[in-house]
Amino acid sequence: MSLASVAQAEAKLLLPTYERNPLLFEKGRGVYLFDAQGRRYLDFLSGIGVNALGYNHPAIRKALVEQSERLVHISNLFFHRGQSDLAKLLTEMSGLDRAFFCNSGTEAFEAALKLARAYARAKNSNGHRPKWRFLALENSFHGRTFGSLAATSTKKYRQPFAPLMPGVSFVRFNDVEDLKAKFDSKVCALCLEPVQGEGGIRAVSKKFFQAARALAQENGALLIADEIQCGLGRTGKYFAYQHYGIAPDIVTVAKPLAAGLPLGAVLTTEAVSRVIHPGMHGTTFGGGPLACSVAIAFLETLERENLVRHVAEMGAYCKDELLTLQERHACIVEVRGLGLMLGAELNSADLAKSVARSMLNAGIIINRTHETVLRFLPPYIVSKKEIDHVIQNLDRALSQKQGKAVTAARARHLKESS
Ligand SMILES: *Cc1c(COP(=O)(O)O)cnc(C)c1O
Repeated sequence: MSLASVAQAEAKLLLPTYERNPLLFEKGRGVYLFDAQGRRYLDFLSGIGVNALGYNHPAIRKALVEQSERLVHISNLFFHRGQSDLAKLLTEMSGLDRAFFCNSGTEAFEAALKLARAYARAKNSNGHRPKWRFLALENSFHGRTFGSLAATSTKKYRQPFAPLMPGVSFVRFNDVEDLKAKFDSKVCALCLEPVQGEGGIRAVSKKFFQAARALAQENGALLIADEIQCGLGRTGKYFAYQHYGIAPDIVTVAKPLAAGLPLGAVLTTEAVSRVIHPGMHGTTFGGGPLACSVAIAFLETLERENLVRHVAEMGAYCKDELLTLQERHACIVEVRGLGLMLGAELNSADLAKSVARSMLNAGIIINRTHETVLRFLPPYIVSKKEIDHVIQNLDRALSQKQGKAVTAARARHLKESS
């Protein structure tokens, strides 16, 4: 099948939800993807933060093969050992007590919202009206199902589906005064991504995160950290909130958890867990034996290969290199991020789009998010050599584009002045 025939078939048969890049991939090895013609691409997006171990990692392949020979699905009506084995690893890494497994990021976040409501109801059973409000941040992204979407601020995602779940107010990013103004005793939870992903790679400030923790405590509300993109090693610690020394009440994870199989998880405290009883929440597929086995293999590989430290080192190196590029290219407005979750904001959306396209033409996959931000989410196994290659090509792409922009401006200027 050629790219053209697949694209044609999709155009006819699928809901037009995606604007895909014109590439048809066939296989991956390490940090590289190969298209149908055998052309090699260096992947600095990792399937949007999913393929943390790159492609075809032996530990993942082994877990997939061995578990698929034993048991793929059993339903949550029976025991298998995968969920508790995986929960043990996740609770040790996070400092939280219990886990619930589902199939995606939005499902994990949806479960977090439900937990917060259930907790509020249980805590206010003696005559008080239960708390029901949620606070979320400007430029947040928590997913596409109705509850998660209600906590997602982007208008174009929300508007076509209104009315959404009521009760969510948005707080200005890193604005402690606005947070204080919007907090009251009706808030059951404050939701935040410690490092916003789709919102343009923005880390919350320490001051804001601390105020959030304190205000939640004072108002009897829960603090939900959405670590679906920034969690599980991506920022150079197991969880991004660990950079801040803050303990959230609920944490959501998903993207890299099962190395490409759909798996999400909610982690929470013993106190919050106590409000959940059989029948209140559940899923058919969530936490199946295959996904759990692969997730265990992923987390064990992080430990065995000391990859979280490697992420911190490679992330610091890549960020330094991006900052050096910024000195040479005025179109780079800001370089942001932690670990291998990095963004370079450019001064124009068109420029960001065309730079991402030039990189693709040069065989490098990056992505543009929030219109103007070039996003870098390489696999954790990336090396300096590959980072250097990306930086060199980015340097070249920015020089060419700027050269063109300058030439165009000069031509306009000459035309106007003649
Ligand atoms: C990707 C993402 C989600 C949604 O995850 P899906 O698996 O696409 O449903 C939620 N929150 C954050 C922070 C994300 O990056």
